[in-house]
Amino acid sequence: MYPRLNVYKERTYNNAKAVVELCEKQGISVTGVVKGCSGNLAASTAILKAGAKHLGSSRMSQIEAIKREIPGAKTLMLRIPMISEIERLVASCDYSLQSEYEIIERIEHECHNQGKTHDVILMMDLGDLREGYMNEEELIAVAEKIENDMKFVKLAGIGTNVGCYGSVKATPENLGKLVQIAYKIEALIGRKLEIVSGGATSSLPLVVQGEMPTGINHLRIGEGVLTCREVGEFYHSPIEGQSTDAFILEAEIVEIKTKPTYPIGELAYDAFGNTPSFEDRGIKKRMLLAVGRQDFGQHEKLIPLDQTIEIIGSSSDHLIVEVSEQSKSYKLGDTLSFEIMYPSMLYLTESPDVIKVVL
Ligand SMILES: *Cc1c(COP(=O)(O)O)cnc(C)c1O
Repeated sequence: MYPRLNVYKERTYNNAKAVVELCEKQGISVTGVVKGCSGNLAASTAILKAGAKHLGSSRMSQIEAIKREIPGAKTLMLRIPMISEIERLVASCDYSLQSEYEIIERIEHECHNQGKTHDVILMMDLGDLREGYMNEEELIAVAEKIENDMKFVKLAGIGTNVGCYGSVKATPENLGKLVQIAYKIEALIGRKLEIVSGGATSSLPLVVQGEMPTGINHLRIGEGVLTCREVGEFYHSPIEGQSTDAFILEAEIVEIKTKPTYPIGELAYDAFGNTPSFEDRGIKKRMLLAVGRQDFGQHEKLIPLDQTIEIIGSSSDHLIVEVSEQSKSYKLGDTLSFEIMYPSMLYLTESPDVIKVVL
């Protein structure tokens, strides 16, 4: 059955292992973030086996499935929780990221109800402008209140996120600021913080380059253990032992024809309300595949394994590729395989029409 997404366990294990070992050498532990593959359990299990300390997601349903299906997995909730999900948070998450004292108070109350403890990581906004305290005094005051006044909520540490909204780069300067704040809190509470979390995959290049400030002892890595393209391709700091083919999309060919490259008729809007432009390159051989934007988002995020073919477009339910002189001769019913980038993985792993095959 197609389209299908092949999930390669061994490759995911190796990808995660490469990151965990690299980070370990610099005293950094890793939370494997699995929201990008919709919490796929085979991938999650492989990442945990590779030495990740916790599994993290921004979606409660994924964390609950991990708690249910992977015995012993420690879980970290990445999205600042909704008040309406605090009961589920306390039931399923060991750690969470926090930026509102009111919510933390409600967690304390819910922990009391459930007879549980819960570890929080306070988020500092160092300029990316998504979650976190803008003001370090405010964060430090909340840290002290948790430490001194709360019985069930434990202060595990502090963290930050860069790169996600504001596209701010992780640097020794901004992450160094986080370490300074951690030292101030440690001086006030008289103990070491378990976690000083220096960000996501976009912080990994600093580890590869040996420029991560001392004191950062934790990272939350998703892309860098799943599709593994960002660090090598955006930051030119590839991690030894990783490959980009742990997730492969396979789709079936449903039409093979030669057609003009320039549409015939008066041009207006495409299926998504855009006005695309076309170049007339004459008549070409092309194929239609039965997979579309509803499944993978944007076709720009797919990379054909057969490098002689080129993706030229897509609509909700179709992918259009052009065949070159060098291509082998495909026939109807054959399939094409694609490596996928992170955004496509996000959609493909959620699409009910894409079957997931663990290999
Ligand atoms: C998604 C997310 C991560 C992981 O991001 P990657 O870029 O995939 O490594 C880390 N931290 C938070 C808060 C997140 O939401």
